[in-house]
Amino acid sequence: MNYRILLPVAFAALLLNCNNATGQQTDNNDAAAATVSSDASNSVSSDASAPASDSQSANDVSASTNAQTADPAIPALAQRLINAYPEQHLTYTDNHIVFPDGTKIVFDDGKQKSFEQMLDDCDIEDMLSMKYDTSEKIPGYLSDAGRARSEAFFKKMYGNNEAAVRKNLVKVNWFGQSLLFTKVNGADIQLKKVADEIAKHPELRKYMEQSSSFYWRPVRGAKRLSAHSYGMTIDICTKYSNYWLWSNKGAGETTKGLKYENRIPEQIVTIFEKYGFIWGGRWYHYDTMHFEYRPEIAPQQSDLPTL
Ligand SMILES: [Zn+2]
Repeated sequence: MNYRILLPVAFAALLLNCNNATGQQTDNNDAAAATVSSDASNSVSSDASAPASDSQSANDVSASTNAQTADPAIPALAQRLINAYPEQHLTYTDNHIVFPDGTKIVFDDGKQKSFEQMLDDCDIEDMLSMKYDTSEKIPGYLSDAGRARSEAFFKKMYGNNEAAVRKNLVKVNWFGQSLLFTKVNGADIQLKKVADEIAKHPELRKYMEQSSSFYWRPVRGAKRLSAHSYGMTIDICTKYSNYWLWSNKGAGETTKGLKYENRIPEQIVTIFEKYGFIWGGRWYHYDTMHFEYRPEIAPQQSDLPTL
């Protein structure tokens, strides 16, 4: 988790988290505990990855329906995660996030990581430690809130492999396109709400053409999975999109002074964020076509504990 001290721009924000982020560290620091620590680590079945219930109503996906009373034994960041995914019925015990079937995923592995190591070996505490900053037009150096993901956590929720993820996908009408999106955590319902609201603004329609969503694949040039693999991520029109590597040829993960470019109207971003999505345009390593359902990080869930 020491990557945080390498992030001067984000440091002030992260100071707010330090007590909670480090105070709960336990002895579970061995490398084997880095991801899933139970026997289920390599055998998370598709059934276990399925949503706990299909009976959830359209309005239940916000955390407000499952807000839990603050427990001082639970780190604030863990509580935020628990509240953000009410359908999962998560609990926290002894530095682990626990699923109802007993699968335990370590919260803070206690490892010291460089920024790049953190991207490839991200625990839940790493994932939540960076503030998603909506106040800056241009993201600060290495400010990438939500870009790193705990693969164990997302595979457990959305599916451990392509076939398992596909079982949870449904078709969502996206401005005349039929996009596959996961029903887990009500992400499909949230995407429909985004579509309904954007549709009220005809001038935004051109940005929705040729969108894409599910695609099981690793991040280009990396071993970790793209967020598109889980079915809760959409890329809107590439024609109006900018990507950090397109505009900064040859740049590396820690290259300073990346040139920032964006043509996606703020109105679109605000609507997505309102329904629990985060925007890749808020990352130092920007990807302005990219929106993913991340209610534990998105800023509009005002009933969640403040980061
Ligand atoms: Zn994308």
